[in-house]
Amino acid sequence: MKDTLLNEYIDILTSVKSHVEDELELGFNEMPSSEQIKMSADSLFSLEGQGREIVYNTMDDIRKAVEECHKCPLYKTRTNIVFDSGNENAKLVFVGEAPGYDEDQQGKPFVGKAGQKLTQIINAIKLSREEVYITNVLKCRPPNNRNPLPHEIEACEPFLIAQLRMIKPKIICALGTFAAQTLLRSDQAISKLRGRFHTYQGIKLMPTYHPAFLLRSPKYKKDVWEDVQRVRAEYDKE
Ligand code: URA
Repeated sequence: MKDTLLNEYIDILTSVKSHVEDELELGFNEMPSSEQIKMSADSLFSLEGQGREIVYNTMDDIRKAVEECHKCPLYKTRTNIVFDSGNENAKLVFVGEAPGYDEDQQGKPFVGKAGQKLTQIINAIKLSREEVYITNVLKCRPPNNRNPLPHEIEACEPFLIAQLRMIKPKIICALGTFAAQTLLRSDQAISKLRGRFHTYQGIKLMPTYHPAFLLRSPKYKKDVWEDVQRVRAEYDKE
């Protein structure tokens, strides 16, 4: 019990420290005051700050909330929020990690090189981008495409949850480690999670490798092909 509390405390401090480091990296030369640190800790850990209990009436309400969101520092460096594309009544939702350069410029998910790969994957199961819904865990681009930080995921996840509640898809395909681990509350490697259906809030969820990973390691294409064939088979049953 004592160890658990201690670990939680260490997690909190680590999270606040990286939040503060981000602020410094973004050009705030002065160390934040203890009051600022307390405020960022409060917004990280209060339920209200995470917006988990907010009920949105329309997808546009969620989009507006993302546009106004200041819960993590990424809003300061982004060009555009990257909210979604595709069909809001889709049976199948693809969830990626975070916008990259092209997505940040255009305000649309998966429009760069990884996006072309995702289009091929979607077309391989005889669907179009317009028939499915596409979004990311993070709605703002992390600087230099670095990995999302835990407090950024924590701040942004309520928007993803709200989107999924609004769409009520039959199947989710989680692209890569961050999407799969975030939705499944897991720290298992994507190589262990992929290849079989899991359940997210009663919805079938298939984790698979991220399209950007396939660009770097094409030998995993076969695995993704198998995963999306399983997705297509479930899609046909629904
Ligand atoms: N990678 C992602 O995870 N999402 C995008 O939108 C683009 C690249």
